[in-house]
Amino acid sequence: MEAEIERFFQGTAETNLQKYHLDLRKILTTQIRPHGRINEWRRLLEAVPPETAIPSFTTDTVRIGPEGKDYSTQLKALTPWRKGPLKIGKTIIDTEWRSDWKWKRIKPHVVDLRGKRVLDVGCGNGYFLFRMLGEGAKLALGVDPTILFNFQFALMQKVTADNNAYLLPLRSEDLPAFGMFDVVFSMGVLYHRRSPLDHLQELFNFLRPGGQLVLESLIIEENKDNLLIPEDRYAKMANVWFIPSTFSLEVMASRVGFQDSRIKDVTLTTTQEQRSTKWMEFESLVNFLDPADTSKTVEGYPAPRRAILTAKKPI
Ligand code: SAH
Repeated sequence: MEAEIERFFQGTAETNLQKYHLDLRKILTTQIRPHGRINEWRRLLEAVPPETAIPSFTTDTVRIGPEGKDYSTQLKALTPWRKGPLKIGKTIIDTEWRSDWKWKRIKPHVVDLRGKRVLDVGCGNGYFLFRMLGEGAKLALGVDPTILFNFQFALMQKVTADNNAYLLPLRSEDLPAFGMFDVVFSMGVLYHRRSPLDHLQELFNFLRPGGQLVLESLIIEENKDNLLIPEDRYAKMANVWFIPSTFSLEVMASRVGFQDSRIKDVTLTTTQEQRSTKWMEFESLVNFLDPADTSKTVEGYPAPRRAILTAKKPI
């Protein structure tokens, strides 16, 4: 993970991000979450010989690392794998999520990424960063505070040719107001934040004037101007603070200054898109729904439905 952080600083030394390097170094010394297994993961990663295999970022299954090599021991030590599908060396990782389905829904609504600098906030293991490079982005920076996902990304980067996808183990709220990204993605993050308007304001501040926001969130379709605030858990998740209606999501983005704030897609999450697999053996969507009525979560709330919103920072 540390090597990945250094690769970010080297790889962006000649870009507009350079002026934030000192700030970022400071934040990285104070804000990285401690994790009990970090030394084990460090040792595991150090033992993997570096490789320069050419990856495939344009296919639904992101392929990375030398085709014939077996990394299954390391890959198992780094479970659960949530976002993919991935093929790392010779191993296909059937992740909990079919993130390629999400990308198919998102892509038609995103500006042409060729030559663009993009930021993916809460990017998980970086699956979408690779897909963004696959669409021609010249720089794809992700942030995600979950240390495991940073190690998953670091393993993938260690066995592939150098590329401009980077991941820093930081939270969105700790980042400087870059004001320079052409496109900012926040997918599956908003409802984990206690303060949704503040999150939207951060995203606004990361963009250059004229830049595009691509936001993906759980939503409710009922109750036009309402938010659902779960009394306790939502779909067994303790960290869902609220779920906006599609209408209130558009309004929230407008209130922090975005233009053309529009919902572009609403899709019910299916148990084919999110499920337990060999690579994520914990409970998944099927266990979060009421078996007697799968239009409801086990808590009796509307079943997970997700929307894509795009908006523009005024010039
Ligand atoms: N964007 C991916 C992953 C969504 S899961 C997708 O759409 O599939 C939510 C992710 O947000 C998790 O990986 C979690 O670690 C990360 N996250 C949680 N709080 C965050 C914060 N404050 N800033 C940035 N990322 C955060």
